[in-house]
Amino acid sequence: MNAENHDVVIVGGGVAGLSALWQLRHRDVVLLEADERLGGRLMSLPRGDYWMNLGAHLFPGAGSHVERMTSGLGLETIGIPGAKFALAFAGKVYANKRVETYPFTLPLSLSERVALAGVGLRAVGAVKAWQDTQREQPGWPARRFGGYLANRSFRDLIGRPPARVDGIFRAAGHRAASELEDQSAATGGALFGGVWAGRKSLLSYNLDGGSSRLGEAMAAELGHLVRYGATVTRVREEDGRVLVTLRENGEERTLRARQVIMATPAYISHRVVEGLPGDVAGVLADVRYGPFVSAGVITTERGPMPYDRIYALTATDQSFDMMFNHANPLRTGVRRPGGSLMVYAGGDGARRMLDLEDSGVESRYADDLASVFPQLRGNLGEIRIQRWEHGIPYRRPGFSFEPMLRYSRRTDVGVHFCGDYFADLGNMELAAASGFRAAVRAGAAVGGRP
Ligand SMILES: Cc1cc2nc3c(=O)[nH]c(=O)nc-3n(C[C@H](O)[C@H](O)[C@H](O)COP(=O)(O)OP(=O)(O)OC[C@H]3O[C@@H](n4cnc5c(N)ncnc54)[C@H](O)[C@@H]3O)c2cc1C
Repeated sequence: MNAENHDVVIVGGGVAGLSALWQLRHRDVVLLEADERLGGRLMSLPRGDYWMNLGAHLFPGAGSHVERMTSGLGLETIGIPGAKFALAFAGKVYANKRVETYPFTLPLSLSERVALAGVGLRAVGAVKAWQDTQREQPGWPARRFGGYLANRSFRDLIGRPPARVDGIFRAAGHRAASELEDQSAATGGALFGGVWAGRKSLLSYNLDGGSSRLGEAMAAELGHLVRYGATVTRVREEDGRVLVTLRENGEERTLRARQVIMATPAYISHRVVEGLPGDVAGVLADVRYGPFVSAGVITTERGPMPYDRIYALTATDQSFDMMFNHANPLRTGVRRPGGSLMVYAGGDGARRMLDLEDSGVESRYADDLASVFPQLRGNLGEIRIQRWEHGIPYRRPGFSFEPMLRYSRRTDVGVHFCGDYFADLGNMELAAASGFRAAVRAGAAVGGRP
C-alpha cells in the first residue's frame, strides 16, 4: 500500500495529545486534530486587558506535566490571590477563608448547623480516604477504601441532610458535571479534595492571557507536526502496523503508523478503534461524561466590585452553580476598568439548558448574576455561551476502569489510550499525565532516541 508512514500518530490535540506531542516532538510524529485549533476543552478569548474564559482555567504549578509544557513554551502562570470557596447562600455572599468555618457563620437553624458540620466531616473523610488511594503503591487499607469509595455514590456517603444544607453540596457537586446520586464517592473525594486543598491544591494558577494560549503557543512551536481539520474515523492494527483512516479536506485517506496514541475522549476512541478486547471496549463505551453550559461575561464597571477578592464562588438556588472571577489574579497595582467573569451550570441544570437558544441562557445567567451581585446591573457587557455536552468525565458508583489500566500496561499493543477519563474526575493535569505515559510507551516501542 502506498500510504504515508509515521513512527507515531497522535489523534486529538487537547491537553492529553499535546502532552504526548511535547514528549515525542523530536521523533517522526504527526498529530491529527479534527478542529482548526489546538487545546480542546482549554478555551479562552482575548478581550483587551482581560480574557474571556469558556472552558478549563485552573492550572497546576511547578513540577506538573502541564507546567513542563507551559514553561517550555515560554508561557507564564499567575497565582490566584482571591477566595476559592466563596458561597452565595440565602441572598448573601460569604467568602470565608476556611471552609470548615461555614457551619458557624451561615444563617442556619441549629439542626441545619449540626447537619452541615456532620456532612462536612463525612466529606472530609472521603477526601482523606481518596487521597490515600492516590499514592503510587497504596497499601491494603487504602486499596480497601478505594473499592469502598468506587462502589458507593457520594450521596450514600453524605446521606440526606436538610434541604438548604443539601443545596450547598448539590451545587458544589455540579462541578463534577453530575448529581451526587450518580457520582461515586471517589469522584466526590476527588472533587472536594481539589477544592479544599487550599494552597496545596494541584490546580492553583491561571495561564496569563487565558487557557487558549497553551494550544496557540504549541501551534506556533510545533505546528509543522500538526494536521488540522483531520477527523479520524477508523484505527485498526494490521500486519504489525496501525492503519489510521481520516477525513481531511473532504477526502478520505489512510496513514500507516508503528504506534498510535488515541488522545480523544473515551466515547470517540470507542467509536474509532477496532479490534479491542471486549472488556477494554466496554470501559471506553461506559465512561460517563456530564455537561456544562458555561458563559464568559465581560463587565464594564469603573470602580471596585464586591467580588474583587473572590476567585471562585459556589451559588445555591441559581441557574448557575459556579462563578469565577478571571480578573482577580490581575487586580494588582493600578486598577483597570471592567472585568471578566465566567459562570457555569453542571449536571442536570446544564442538561436542561443544552437545547435553549443562547439568548435564553444569557438572560437567565444575567438575571441571576444581578440578583447575587446587584452592582452588576447595567455593568454586563459581552456574554458568550459555550455548551459542553461532554464537559467532564466522572465515575459512576460500581464502575471499574481496571481493564483499561491492565491494557495500558501491555507492551505488545500498537494503540495507546490517554485523556482525562483516566481519572476519577477529569482535569487537565491528569489528562497531561496520561498523555505523557502513553508517549513514553509508544516511544519505547518504536525505539531510538527517548
Ligand atoms: C467548563 C469546564 C471547566 C473546566 N475547568 C477545569 C479547570 O479549571 N482545571 C482543570 O484542570 N480542568 C478543567 N476542566 C477539565 C479539562 O478541560 C479537561 O480535563 C481537559 O482539558 C481534557 O483534555 P483531553 O485532552 O483529555 O480532552 P479534550 O480537551 O476534549 O481533547 C480532545 C481533542 O480531540 C479532538 N478530537 C475529537 N475527535 C476527534 C477525531 N475523530 N479525530 C481527531 N481529533 C479529534 C478534539 O477536537 C479535541 O481537540 C474543565 C472542563 C470544562 C468543560
